[in-house]
Amino acid sequence: MSVIGIDFGNEGCYVAAARSGGIETLANDYSLRATPSFVAFDGKKRIIGVAAKNQQVTNMKNTVGGFKRLLGRKFNDPHVQHELTSIPARVEARGDGSIGIKVNYLGEDKHFGPEQLTAMLFTKLKETSAAAMQTQVNDCVIACPAFFTNAERRALLDAAQIAGLNVLRLMNETTATALSYGFYKNDLFEDKPRNVIFVDFGHSALQVSACTFTKGKLKMLASTWDQIGGRDIDLALADYFSKEFQERYKINSKTNARANLRLLTEIEKLKKQMSANSTKLPLNIECFLEDIDVSSSMQRSQMEELCAPVFQRVEQTFKRLLAESKLQLDDIHSVEIVGGSSRIPAVKQLIEQVFNKPASTTLNQDEAVSRGAALQCAIMSPAVRVREFGVTDIQNYAVKVLWDSEGSAAPGEIEIFPQFHASPFSRLLTINRKGPFNVSIVYGQQVPYPDQTIGVWKIKDVKPTERGEGQDVKLKVRINNNGIVLISSATLVEKKEAEEAAAAEQAASEEKLAEQAGGANAAGEPTDGQQEGTDKKKKASKATELPLECTTHGFSPIDLGNYTQQESKMIGNDQRETERIDAKNALEEFVYDMRNKLQDGPLERFVVESEREAIVAQLNDLENWLYEDGEDCERETYTSRLQALHQKTDPIKVRANDYELCPAVFEELKGSI
Ligand code: ATP
Ligand code: MG
Repeated sequence: MSVIGIDFGNEGCYVAAARSGGIETLANDYSLRATPSFVAFDGKKRIIGVAAKNQQVTNMKNTVGGFKRLLGRKFNDPHVQHELTSIPARVEARGDGSIGIKVNYLGEDKHFGPEQLTAMLFTKLKETSAAAMQTQVNDCVIACPAFFTNAERRALLDAAQIAGLNVLRLMNETTATALSYGFYKNDLFEDKPRNVIFVDFGHSALQVSACTFTKGKLKMLASTWDQIGGRDIDLALADYFSKEFQERYKINSKTNARANLRLLTEIEKLKKQMSANSTKLPLNIECFLEDIDVSSSMQRSQMEELCAPVFQRVEQTFKRLLAESKLQLDDIHSVEIVGGSSRIPAVKQLIEQVFNKPASTTLNQDEAVSRGAALQCAIMSPAVRVREFGVTDIQNYAVKVLWDSEGSAAPGEIEIFPQFHASPFSRLLTINRKGPFNVSIVYGQQVPYPDQTIGVWKIKDVKPTERGEGQDVKLKVRINNNGIVLISSATLVEKKEAEEAAAAEQAASEEKLAEQAGGANAAGEPTDGQQEGTDKKKKASKATELPLECTTHGFSPIDLGNYTQQESKMIGNDQRETERIDAKNALEEFVYDMRNKLQDGPLERFVVESEREAIVAQLNDLENWLYEDGEDCERETYTSRLQALHQKTDPIKVRANDYELCPAVFEELKGSI
């Protein structure tokens, strides 16, 4: 048995598997560890991962990447509008305002949402993992940016469900990195906490987190981020080069999507070379536009100048982390870097400048996130046995609970979780009510999502006491394992009990919960907090679980069911198409192979000439047919033709085999014929 951890990057995904032997990053069908986050469509099938990226230039409108940052959002969201400028596919608003990416699939125009595209990518990751490990994969931990809001997290979970993945936890990317750092360190001590900063600078985002390690445990302290990444550097350079080409060659690459894509591809290569080389490097593209070959060059210092605004934001994010974690420079043991863009020398210099420590590369910069996620999955899953390691994550944003008014009672609100509160965690909130009421959970600070609301819960079946007084309703407000905030239960506590047990308790007051195990729990499974003195109350009280009705982000069960069905239909179709192509290839291969063997080949002498000529003619006809009428047939057509060929040619092979076994008998027989 094995379990997996998935790093779903904006540019590429990594999957690591935890087996009893350790953690291993899995290679895909192209023997590569990175699977590009691209999905493409053609008349017959979906093309996902490496193959999708490879054919992007020739199938731009039906190739989609960059959908990670569209998850859980509406078409009109300004963030989406900005992201769409770098997605060449056609994108429209669907009836409910969601994002519909329009592609031509199976000869028809179809709309897919970012969640469906993510599910397709997950299907691919699931298949390649199953192939690499030769076993079915279901349990996984998926990493997501620490700054993902409720809507984005729910969308990611929906995508995983559509793909049939069982997500044990959505884990913040920097926390996964921290786990892959701490798990193998055997110089961590109970009484000597070690503070480490983790910098993940990827394709679309920069995330910086502070973490404190003690023996067998990690606790995240604070996290900052900015929506800048390697792609912003590419875009700044593309701007520079396209201006230069316009001046020198009078061509405008910006108006030509294909030229733009080729330019960005070459720039990315140049950028990577610049990380290792400070001298002037060339950039050449043949037949760039209007058959014109273009050439230019750049050196690192020039790139740093052009991208100064990006590096300023990097510096500010580092400084914010220092301020928000409240760590002094001397408190920091090291700064570990991961993510492709952390290889840029300017970023390393900024680390040294701000944190007064050289950037440390203890971890595999590309694989640390997936490896940490796989470790977390192993810790949580009974399928794999690993050492225990406690992980206490944080809630990235302050969260408030708001409730509506009732009669003369005013509406109220409370900050239930301050920013960077430990996660998972539960708190109880007691509100005194006579009838059903609504509670909203909202972010208590600006978040990178247009809507601050996490959800609205209708607390039903609340009734007054016989004397017409309000009753205490206890709401359990929870940050769950996935960093999602919700009301997990509402309980009506009868007035009699409430008076006896907690006369001092005020309506709408926050009630402290006993610490839940959280990070200390080895499995990482949250233990719901237990109310202090519960036993005493339980005996005297009558607590009734109240029904809840919730409006929050994410698909409805019906939509989820439909999308899941669509996904399995597409998987079935892809499978049939693969089998069809395989059958065609098998027939084609047989035609070439048999012809070679019959004409001046090892089978020539085992068949009479007339028969041989007839078979060769048939093979030639088949070859022509494969390129003409037979180019696009059903699988059965190919298999039946192959079968017919076998019937004709197998006896020849049998004769050849018999000869191999006993040549003397064969020669004798031949002589007697
Ligand atoms: P994100 O974390 O934003 O979702 P991701 O995980 O897919 O995205 P990574 O794989 O960490 O991103 O990094 C990809 C980025 O790193 C790309 O922009 C790529 O150009 C850049 N990159 C990779 N290697 C280098 C290098 N040697 N020098 C500069 N940039 C690099
Ligand atoms: Mg990443």
